[in-house]
Amino acid sequence: VIEHGQPEHSKVTTCAYCGVGCSFKAEMQGDRVIRMVPYKDGKANEGHSCVKGRFAWGYANHRDRMTKPMIRARITDPWREVSWEEAISHAASEFKRIQARYGRESVGAITSSRCTNEEVFLVQKLVRAAFRNNNVDTCARVCHSPTGYGLKTTLGTSAGTQDFKSVAKADVILIIGANPTDGHPVFASRMKKRIREGARLIVADPRRIDMVKSPHIKADYHLPLRPGTNVALLNALGHVVVTEGLIDESYVRERCDLDAFEQWARFVAREENSPEASEQYTGVPAADVRAAARLYATGGNGAIYYGLGVTEHSQGSTTVMAMANLAMATGNIGRDGVGINPLRGQNNVQGSCDMGSFPHEFSGYRHVADDSTRQVFEMMWGVPLDPEQGLRITNMLDEAVDGTFKGLYVQGEDIAQSDPNTKHVTAGLAAMECVVIQDIFLNETAKYAHVFLPGASFLEKDGTFTNAERRINRVRQVMAPLSGKDEWQVTIELARALGYEMSYAHPGEIMDEIARLTPSFAGVSYDKLEKLGSVQWPCNEKAPTGTPLMHVDRFVRGKGQFMITEFIATDERTGPRFPLLLTTGRILSQYNVGAQTRRTENGAWHDEDVLEIHPFDAESRGIRDGDLVSLASRSGDIALRAEISERMQPGVVYTTFHHAKTGANVITTDYSDWATNCPEYKVTAVEVRRTNHY
Ligand code: SF4
Repeated sequence: VIEHGQPEHSKVTTCAYCGVGCSFKAEMQGDRVIRMVPYKDGKANEGHSCVKGRFAWGYANHRDRMTKPMIRARITDPWREVSWEEAISHAASEFKRIQARYGRESVGAITSSRCTNEEVFLVQKLVRAAFRNNNVDTCARVCHSPTGYGLKTTLGTSAGTQDFKSVAKADVILIIGANPTDGHPVFASRMKKRIREGARLIVADPRRIDMVKSPHIKADYHLPLRPGTNVALLNALGHVVVTEGLIDESYVRERCDLDAFEQWARFVAREENSPEASEQYTGVPAADVRAAARLYATGGNGAIYYGLGVTEHSQGSTTVMAMANLAMATGNIGRDGVGINPLRGQNNVQGSCDMGSFPHEFSGYRHVADDSTRQVFEMMWGVPLDPEQGLRITNMLDEAVDGTFKGLYVQGEDIAQSDPNTKHVTAGLAAMECVVIQDIFLNETAKYAHVFLPGASFLEKDGTFTNAERRINRVRQVMAPLSGKDEWQVTIELARALGYEMSYAHPGEIMDEIARLTPSFAGVSYDKLEKLGSVQWPCNEKAPTGTPLMHVDRFVRGKGQFMITEFIATDERTGPRFPLLLTTGRILSQYNVGAQTRRTENGAWHDEDVLEIHPFDAESRGIRDGDLVSLASRSGDIALRAEISERMQPGVVYTTFHHAKTGANVITTDYSDWATNCPEYKVTAVEVRRTNHY
């Protein structure tokens, strides 16, 4: 509900939905938010917002908010409200009991990209210093972990290369596996503005998304590839660049590893990588691929923007590296208007990765096995640290099912709804002896929890989020935590109860420690953020006001590294039982599993997930628009309404995953990226039939 009236006071803070990271002025009457006004000095949004962010405060006071800690002995028992002291001491004694009985490696934690950098940093510190293992992973595992792997391998750093405003200098925009209008609306507006000014546009997506054709823009080329064939398409684009002599030779000679380049050039030049040969996999006409490649390579500044349609595949990391190959070969990294830019789904995906919540890396992406790095952390934290890589989320759940992983601390994440193959996730959770959930709502995962610690909404947090352009934005506490405790304070108390002392008076002190331990954050402080509004990392002695563009004179890793990116078709195959391919995505008014947007005014505009299906596939199955259909895969089946849509190509269906009632992840597969285990959400073989019941 939009409330009117004059604000008595206001605070500038950062949206907690997508990775654009828009700044807002939260206008207040007393301790009540009455309006969120897009902040004109916000560098990521310059006074704009989307419907999600503008109404985001709606869920903060929702009647479903949990404000009291609770415990229970078994997941079949009713919850019992307890004091903070009892909940924390119970969780700590359970973790200690489990480690004493099953070993140090039997417990771990999952951090959340919804939480602040400071909150995430403390949870990974708790795991390494109090649990004394490296079993910490982030929900970024299931979205952008291939970005980290692919960009670090090829360019030397696990982040996008540009700032958002760089798009204003792009001459050719290549969007692959992203739907910015729905997923990143404020940045989509910047892109559209540039396209209206004359930039050319190539969209590679199985669906005819809004960017392909909308009232004021039209893509020069839409490459409607079949889900799971990104690598084949990118290799075909590379083939044209190499075989038609479109390489930026002086750039490659000066900036890149020449041996690796020559190997890559020979590889993509092979006939099997030609657009004509690839067409059998991608379904994209070879002539369009050739024309798009020529446009990207010769049209001036070429900028690539991508999303989860790239990363959530069994070849997610390979796809990221294939994009890097293409950009390096054409000289499209290292200046305004070019680059490779992941459009991050969640507000702090970048930050949760930066803060060291991967099982193999400390903050700043340094390996736990590196002795000199580990010694720096050991000196600061006062304990010996484990040099062995820990468990990823998928490993934790597998080992829980096998009976060796027994205790989990989940920070603000609903893995029972958001992770793939729900049955396997819930089997793992149900097999554990202590699951501790820190969240603002009693989510699906909490059904398997023994301890519930009420969390704080973004309006109750003090700290920082890092957006998709590496911009560190302040998150300011607009209202006191409804639970009476800051989340960072809860983690400190849990660490103390586990026997490891942590002490900070304010999140600014946590950031000071992050800056001391993380070279790319060495120049970051709350004072600087107050003065400059925000900064983009790396921010250190060499770049005291931050780094809008990366890899300007040389790549962070030195020479740019071309990689061989062989296309390997996913093991998830269609066949007589499951002849269609399902791919998934988001809608503008909803956000991820919908925990916030379904409890906010804007959520009412989309109250169920529907299945988009091409008229040909619908007709051949006797399905009419609005019919209830069952959607079955090898993992399970769900029911939802059909929407007949020419946006789809024949043979491919599409749904969103915003509603627990639908539970789209009941049917997604177990396959995952070979390098990072990011799940292959975007390709599931399915069949659709009319049904009469949910
Ligand atoms: Fe901005 Fe994204 Fe929030 Fe919308 S959801 S206001 S685009 S940060």
